[in-house]
Amino acid sequence: MKAAVVRAFGEPLVIEDRPDPEPGPGEVRIRVEASGLCHTDVHAARGDWPVKPNPPFVPGHEGVGRVEKLGEGVTHLSIGQRVAVPWLGKACGRCEHCLSGWETLCEQQVNTGYGCDGGYAEKMLAWADFAQPVPDGVTAVDAAPLTCAGVTTYKALKVAGARPTQLVAVSGIGGLGHLAVQYAKIAGATVAAVDVTDEKLELATALGADLVIDARKDDVGAVLKRHGGAHAAIALAVDDAAFEAVNSGLRRGGKLVMVALPAHGTVRVPVFDTVLNGTSVIGSIVGTRQDLAEVFQLHAAGQTQVISETRPLDSVNESIDEVLRGQVKARIVFDLATGR
Ligand code: NAD
Ligand code: ZN
Ligand code: ZN
Repeated sequence: MKAAVVRAFGEPLVIEDRPDPEPGPGEVRIRVEASGLCHTDVHAARGDWPVKPNPPFVPGHEGVGRVEKLGEGVTHLSIGQRVAVPWLGKACGRCEHCLSGWETLCEQQVNTGYGCDGGYAEKMLAWADFAQPVPDGVTAVDAAPLTCAGVTTYKALKVAGARPTQLVAVSGIGGLGHLAVQYAKIAGATVAAVDVTDEKLELATALGADLVIDARKDDVGAVLKRHGGAHAAIALAVDDAAFEAVNSGLRRGGKLVMVALPAHGTVRVPVFDTVLNGTSVIGSIVGTRQDLAEVFQLHAAGQTQVISETRPLDSVNESIDEVLRGQVKARIVFDLATGR
């Protein structure tokens, strides 16, 4: 089977032919149909973060495909069933975080495409308990971006506690942001979308954003304040200054939800304003299996739109360059079913 492999940080990925992986107890083997390119995969391939994966590894945590082999003891999935394999490859199921509905904080977790091989491959393994069934009516190409971009922003909106009539700023209208705009609208919020390209701002408007802010020329904080200040700002742009800009546009009691993970990201938060205004800074990491089930349910009900461009897996290096140049419309999805 074909796989795109990171052999060394910052080097182009190498397309390799590998033997089909064998599922161990509690695992399944999946024939991958579609696999999304999340900006996290770019960070992984470049070794951007303090905790690094170990090359060689196969990135990808938006892999969707059909179960083709069951490991010992797997009884709740069947051959041919379509599943998605998210970043949360597995968690321990026993710790305080797992038991309190915060499996995403489990210290024993293994992350797909980071701590184990991921979805940039024709076949992959998954822990059966964390392979999420995809409802009929959701295509593999749509399910892929929902598996990380969707669940992450859906959860970030939950963490923000977004409610009807509130103003929610979404900073960065990429893979994550184009879905964040839609979840904020579903929550009933008024949405201010922030980006640095005309195409992204137009996309945000098409997806329901009520106002757009061009961070190249507008003072993001001042514009948000003119609209009363944001109850919540979802920071998805891979740029430290973008976090500071939306933070300065919070209203009193507002929440900055940090989601993007720029290399060496460090943000200055003014103590005086934070204290006097009673604002919060919260980190939000992906979402649970239940969050992902809800994301698929919303999509199956026709409430969200996934904007993607499909590519062959062989284009992985050019595709990563496009993400870094900000040229992708929203999400690139490697189409392994048709190879296009
Ligand atoms: P992306 O490249 O698709 O989108 C980033 C967007 O930010 C682009 O539209 C870009 O034009 C815009 N942007 C760049 N500079 C900006 C600025 N100064 N102000 C406003 N917008 C700006 O990336 P993505 O796949 O959506 O991922 C975004 C980030 O989120 C990455 O760092 C990724 O690693 C991280 N991430 C975090 C989690 C989590 O659980 N916390 C999950 C998935 C991804
Ligand atoms: Zn991701
Ligand atoms: Zn745990």
